Amino acid sequence: MQVTAAVVREAEKPFQIEELELDAPRDDEILVKIHSVGICHTDIGVRNQWLPVPLPLVLGHEGAGVVEAVGKNVTKVEPGDKVVLSYASCRSCTMCNRGEPSYCEQFVLRNVAGTRPDGTTALHGAGGDVNGFFFSQSSFATYAVAIESNTVKLDPSADLSTVGPLGCGIQTGAGTVLNRLKPQAGSSLVVFGVGAVGLAALMAAKVAGCTKIIAVDLVQDRLALAEELGATHTINAKTAEDVVAQIQGITGRGADFSVDTTAVTSVVRQAVDCLALKGTCATLGFGTAGTEIQVDMLQLLMAGRTITGVTEGDARPDEFIPQMIELNKQGRFPYEKLISTYDFKDINEACEDAESGKAVKPVLKLV
Ligand SMILES: [Zn+2]
Ligand SMILES: [Zn+2]
Repeated sequence: MQVTAAVVREAEKPFQIEELELDAPRDDEILVKIHSVGICHTDIGVRNQWLPVPLPLVLGHEGAGVVEAVGKNVTKVEPGDKVVLSYASCRSCTMCNRGEPSYCEQFVLRNVAGTRPDGTTALHGAGGDVNGFFFSQSSFATYAVAIESNTVKLDPSADLSTVGPLGCGIQTGAGTVLNRLKPQAGSSLVVFGVGAVGLAALMAAKVAGCTKIIAVDLVQDRLALAEELGATHTINAKTAEDVVAQIQGITGRGADFSVDTTAVTSVVRQAVDCLALKGTCATLGFGTAGTEIQVDMLQLLMAGRTITGVTEGDARPDEFIPQMIELNKQGRFPYEKLISTYDFKDINEACEDAESGKAVKPVLKLV
């Protein structure tokens, strides 16, 4: 069938809207008509080839839509079901069997290889094949082919214009707090970088009952939004003299938890240095491969600190996405406040606004 897709043909160049041919879904695949799709920092990073997924390529990994057709082995969903698309896992390796699919041994193969695990693609252009299967979806297109492990069935009442970002960015921030850090009520938590991921972490800290929630960022508008969404304190790192000292002052004994979304090594160091005894720092930022961080070993030992990376918020999407939607219905997790909506054709403007900080979470509208 013919689809309209945003194609990356050259690193760091704008997306090109093109008509492509999409193959029918295979026996284990699901064809989804995309209604909306969020833009995640990883899409922009791969467009720029910081992570070299082979070009030409269709990105997009926060798709929301309606199942159009399914292969004969698919039992999880049927045509007409509302779905959100998340990251894919193999469902059979040691980590998947342990209920940790975000650390699936085939994570790279199934999410950022640019093809199916067998090396094929379903997208074809005038000049030849186009890579796809980005996060087993490539949803910067009017239709996407997904698989069961990354297709999350939603309630028929779900709002398809806002749920896309739950598939990656919002899940990453909220899941880090609710699934990994699990702060006790009354804890303190600092978020470094309050873009979409950081704000989701902050809202989750409020849900968990943290009583000191500190947002650190360089953009004053984002700090204002952080305050609206539950930050009890904000620090503008551009003007603050000593961010770590300020956090020590606010918390009295250092932060129980810190979350870094920036992947800036000097900021990660602050996220470690601001911790209380036995405090934990989670790093989520998508840094360039090979980036190293330095910490004081003796301090790490004597303070009993933990530094940990977290992928996709440790979330099992089939469980966690409906939980976030339920919290949202109750008014306790207002993720729609992060979203700015753009027409699909304005994808390049949406990316610019995400990079400048003008938009927190751009969502492209296809229907
Ligand atoms: Zn696996
Ligand atoms: Zn993402």
